[in-house]
Amino acid sequence: MPLYEYFCETCEQDFTLLQSTSTNKEETVCDLCGSRNVKYRFSSFASKVVGGTPKTSKPVTENELPNKDVLKLPIPRLRSEL
Ligand SMILES: [Zn+2]
Repeated sequence: MPLYEYFCETCEQDFTLLQSTSTNKEETVCDLCGSRNVKYRFSSFASKVVGGTPKTSKPVTENELPNKDVLKLPIPRLRSEL
């Protein structure tokens, strides 16, 4: 259930309520003084962005490895050896 944040204009306090999404927010009363003079601020579900860095590391592919064919090439012989 989302946590909704309200501001009560009567007692000038912020308060949060755990409400179902189907709750009529216009019928919300202040959690502290019971006044209906409350303003809906936001849902903490939508406002809270979980921090963290996205994973940028990726598995090394064959293309990123050194060219293996170089190792397979025959070592050039000196002319004198021929
Ligand atoms: Zn109040």
